[in-house]
Amino acid sequence: MSLSTRLKQLFFPHTCVLCAERSNQPRDLCTACEKELPWTSLACKQCGIRLPTSSTSDTCGQCQTSSPAFDHVFALCDYEEPIDRMITAAKFNHQLVYTRILGELLAQNAEQNWYKQQSLPALLLPVPLHNTRLRERGYNQALEITKAAAKKLKLPIGKHYCQRAKATVPQSSLAHHERDKNVKNAFILQKPLTVKHVAIIDDIVTTGHTVDELSKVLRQAGVERIDVWCCARTQWK
Ligand SMILES: [Zn+2]
Ligand SMILES: [Zn+2]
Repeated sequence: MSLSTRLKQLFFPHTCVLCAERSNQPRDLCTACEKELPWTSLACKQCGIRLPTSSTSDTCGQCQTSSPAFDHVFALCDYEEPIDRMITAAKFNHQLVYTRILGELLAQNAEQNWYKQQSLPALLLPVPLHNTRLRERGYNQALEITKAAAKKLKLPIGKHYCQRAKATVPQSSLAHHERDKNVKNAFILQKPLTVKHVAIIDDIVTTGHTVDELSKVLRQAGVERIDVWCCARTQWK
């Protein structure tokens, strides 16, 4: 083994979760696989849905007619291969290597792209799980992802501000039109918030109803700017 390989192993003792090769960066994802992820391109500034390439506006028609309670969705990727597999692994198998990669990718994009010209949010808020679900799963994947992002960005996590008051069924198990009702009034605020700019963090945004409901509660509490960070955005159009 050459000296340079040994040094690399010493400094980058990581294995890429996608290609199983030794990672060339201090993360369990190599730069080649990272580059190949289905990164989002032209998306609505507010809800994150993909915009047609011919679009002359930076917001979609839906947001123009009925604005959601949050201001911006920043999504890393479209919900496609292989980020879908990484999210599933993070959610159901308690594989913290995945929540760490996803959180670090959020932090990297926040710093290098999303907030290049503006200040970062003052608080990161993971979408809470209902206690019943938390007991079943043993952890909240959104919180684990947030921990990794917060560590990189040196931002505080708002763990105990919001609670899921209603045990909703998973949004993915419902038809599109049923999802709104499922999460209606699902969240309550447990203590007053003093910050004016927050980012809600979730693994996937599908219709946006969950983060919209949570945003309504935050708005009522006086939060002025609400961003949503997610690892993947499901595309409907
Ligand atoms: Zn790789
Ligand atoms: Zn939109």
